[in-house]
Amino acid sequence: MIISKNPYTGEEVFSIKEYTNIEVEEALEVANKRFVSWKNTSFEERSKLMLKAAVELRKNKQEYAENITQEMGKPITQAIAEIEKCAWVCEYYAENAASQLSKDSISTNAFKSYITYEPIGVILAVMPWNYPFWQVFRFAAPALMAGNIGVLKHASNVMQSANNIQKVFERAGFPKGCFQNLPISSSKVEAIIRDFRIKAVTLTGSKPAGSTVASIAGEEIKKSVLELGGSNALVVFRDAAIEDTVRTCVQARFQNTGQSCIAGKRLLLHESIAKDFLEKFTKEVRELKSGDPMDSETYIGVMAREDLAEDLEKQVQQSLKEGAKILVGGKRDKTYFEPTILTEVTPDMPVFKEETFGPVISVTTFKTEKEAIDMVNSSAFGLGVSVFTENLDAAESMVPQFEDGAVFINELVKSDPRLPFGGTKISGYGRELSLHGIQEFVNKKTVYIK
Ligand code: NAP
Repeated sequence: MIISKNPYTGEEVFSIKEYTNIEVEEALEVANKRFVSWKNTSFEERSKLMLKAAVELRKNKQEYAENITQEMGKPITQAIAEIEKCAWVCEYYAENAASQLSKDSISTNAFKSYITYEPIGVILAVMPWNYPFWQVFRFAAPALMAGNIGVLKHASNVMQSANNIQKVFERAGFPKGCFQNLPISSSKVEAIIRDFRIKAVTLTGSKPAGSTVASIAGEEIKKSVLELGGSNALVVFRDAAIEDTVRTCVQARFQNTGQSCIAGKRLLLHESIAKDFLEKFTKEVRELKSGDPMDSETYIGVMAREDLAEDLEKQVQQSLKEGAKILVGGKRDKTYFEPTILTEVTPDMPVFKEETFGPVISVTTFKTEKEAIDMVNSSAFGLGVSVFTENLDAAESMVPQFEDGAVFINELVKSDPRLPFGGTKISGYGRELSLHGIQEFVNKKTVYIK
């Protein structure tokens, strides 16, 4: 049995029998057979169904969101927002896939030469629990619109959401087998990647999981896309608009109870504004409302599992031993972790150099632009960075100096169906969303007619 436990109450909320090898085999066969017909459907047909999926998500958003909150402790208003964003990504690809995958003519010596973008088959998605719907939909909407088939191995603690996602596609009227949830533990993933019917794999999760999955895919010469961890910096220069920046930085770090790959985990402040900034920042952090994730007033819920909260506590404790200071918070009660600000953090401390996956922010000061850029780039991760300054020319001139997959100026790093999303370094490779995401899992076929 795979069991979901409510991290706020400790109660079991869902259980599902793990698929046997025979059931996995049957599911892959259904998926593979479906591909034969699905790849020949028109964009119009797929688009109609994808729009129905968006309608279904909006219609039953309360139910889907409540299940997310019960399974992983996300505050309910944020869970509802997540479902709405999934509806948006369905609509976006329903409207744009045809043009994103339309034939590209290229002038050569040929009478005619062009590229077509064709689906490749059944794709395995291995997904994390932190945005149980969004992570899956940002893969599934483009993949299905491109004519591919999806099979999902979701995180073990959010199997009810995984089931619900399959339900969304079924209720929208997608043919059986277009998208299936496989209730399995991670030990079954290797055989699935090696199966001849699986053509590629996408994984969102940690580095160890990414590295394992990509190695197997590599051995089989199958394509992989990896969206792994991050330790984004929020860089605040002396001329930043302080009030707005404080608000944005609080959201960047503390939404989703800090459990986001693109959260701003390292706050880098110019020394001349550090005191003023921290006073205002501290005030806002103290005002964040913790509580029952089902309460619509709650902003900080609980962490998804107690072991994750314990890991975070260890990172904080070790950093304190190495000289960091607690400005706010720092305490843990089971799965609840107080919103925490640590100051006097240096780049060799765990809270700076490792990913902190919860409501903890590290604060470091800098004197020069170069010092700030070097600190941003010193991270092994490379998902994104936010720069706050009124001098947009200066900010833009810094863009090429950052090693990350995204630079946001005066805004928190966020995913948007219209923009590519992905990292560099140990944050992974490949891109999701936008035209770049939908083109990851297609055969870019060169056609040459003399
Ligand atoms: P995780 O432990 O890596 O799990 C992610 C998925 O991989 C789960 O479905 C998990 O299944 C599976 N898995 C774990 N080990 C595996 C293995 N050896 N072989 C095959 N599958 C394996 O990550 P998590 O704790 O759920 O999520 C947190 C991490 O995800 C953080 O590092 C975060 O930054 C990253 N993340 C990245 C992005 C992004 O877009 N870049 C977005 C969100 C989260 P089980 O649950 O059954 O173990």
